[in-house]
Amino acid sequence: MKLNGIHHITAITGDAPRNLDFYARVLGLRLVKKTVNQDDPTVYHLFYADERGSAGSDITFFEYPGALPGRAGAGMVHTVVFRVASEEALDFWAERLGAEGVEVERTQGTLRFADPEGLVLELEVVDTSDEPLVAEHPEIPGEHALQGFHAVRAYTRDPEQSRAFLEGPLGFAPEGDAWEVRGETRGGFYAYDEPPAENGRPGGGTVHHVAFATKTEEHDAWQQRIAESGAHPTPVIDRFYFKSIYFREPSGVLFELATLGPGFATDEDPEHLGERLSLPPNFEHLRAEVEPLLTPLPDPRATRAAS
Ligand code: ZN
Repeated sequence: MKLNGIHHITAITGDAPRNLDFYARVLGLRLVKKTVNQDDPTVYHLFYADERGSAGSDITFFEYPGALPGRAGAGMVHTVVFRVASEEALDFWAERLGAEGVEVERTQGTLRFADPEGLVLELEVVDTSDEPLVAEHPEIPGEHALQGFHAVRAYTRDPEQSRAFLEGPLGFAPEGDAWEVRGETRGGFYAYDEPPAENGRPGGGTVHHVAFATKTEEHDAWQQRIAESGAHPTPVIDRFYFKSIYFREPSGVLFELATLGPGFATDEDPEHLGERLSLPPNFEHLRAEVEPLLTPLPDPRATRAAS
């Protein structure tokens, strides 16, 4: 059994309209699902991804309206790295982000910046045969678009405390100062940096968890394997769009293992993903109660067509 790279990354936003504007309009990702946090259905869970909502491209946000910006510290992911195709793509993004007033830091092969709440994002030119997972956007040429995740970087004071768990039960393969997580169709990287002196504080712009992809038919066996390792995973939880288990790795980062299917088209026409509020069947009875509580959000593609 192998994990098939990063499945999704979930972070926190205190400002859903601004978050939607940044990820859908500026970065050009597709809002593929507008649903609620299944552990707190009074707030949004927004999913941005490629055109098809593929695992491997999917950055998601829990909305806590008015949440203050947090700060990444030990045991938290601090940087999300997306792939792009070329240095020309980095030039394009440096200019596009600069025109939006976003400060960028360019090096050979990478471009670093932060989202409006301080979540650090990096674009990296990566030579890979993995399928580029791209969304369509009228202002972003396909060859420059974000292509899905390459890596996440987390903070730990001692990477060695995690090594045996990452390389044993999870099967991460050491590669320089990082680990490669590669399955049949896709791979990505997990890496650590030395944390800042101050403790982390969850809040807007911080990462809640990172999910790695499993084959659907192997998910129960993964749950068993993690339990046998002593890492105290949750039982398998049916999230409707995928099945999940959660546990903390020894450095404290919250990991999820999520199945590759059934995916976001299970309750919506692929042509119209994310346009209306989707509620999984066991949450549908809450619609009348929940919908008025949620921050109104425009359909980014309708806005785009009208302008
Ligand atoms: Zn998740």
